[in-house]
Amino acid sequence: MLDSLISLFAPHHCLACGKEGKLLCSTCAHNLPRLPERCYRCHALSTDGKTCTTCRSSSALYSVRVATAYRDVAKDLVWKLKFAHARSVINEMGRVMNERLDFPEDAVVIHVPTATSRVRQRGFDQASLLARRLARSTPLTHIGALARRGQERQVGSGRKERFEHLLSAFWVQRPELVAGKHIILIDDVITTGATLEAAASVLRKAGAKRVDAVVFAQA
Ligand SMILES: [Zn+2]
Ligand SMILES: [Zn+2]
Repeated sequence: MLDSLISLFAPHHCLACGKEGKLLCSTCAHNLPRLPERCYRCHALSTDGKTCTTCRSSSALYSVRVATAYRDVAKDLVWKLKFAHARSVINEMGRVMNERLDFPEDAVVIHVPTATSRVRQRGFDQASLLARRLARSTPLTHIGALARRGQERQVGSGRKERFEHLLSAFWVQRPELVAGKHIILIDDVITTGATLEAAASVLRKAGAKRVDAVVFAQA
């Protein structure tokens, strides 16, 4: 509403290509390809992005759903998040996620906290902004129940080493808000899924009933 009022006076420019008109022009919106739904870990095709039964035996994530691929326009939007127009970019990312993915009504939304050194650099946590944006356009509540300590360090290249490091970095600040809950983890980009998996594992240990993830882009 406010957005359309403002656009009467100051026309929008596409956040990705700069064309006058909308915050995300139709050409750029078209260049956010949908991906087939897969198990995030072994990449086998799977309904609703559910973790396959083999992978689920060692993963706390029930499913991962992504709105688009992390390339071209999506990459450009995420890159711009770090420098300028963060709120407008978050709004557009949230709108695309909301249009393409279903959010269960019985869940709460928790963002995956960004490593604290990056938050300090940027002055905001983009995953938190994204979770709040999604909570505004869905019946879901956003709770900042998860915290992350320390710097992001490269601790060897092995998945297992990285996972162990991430497990020790996350902790649940408000266990009473997590116990028995169905949780939707929110993040901007998924690469191997190790970060989401560690966050899900910590939440499950705190008593969460089920943890799904909804992510803007798959790298
Ligand atoms: Zn454009
Ligand atoms: Zn699998």
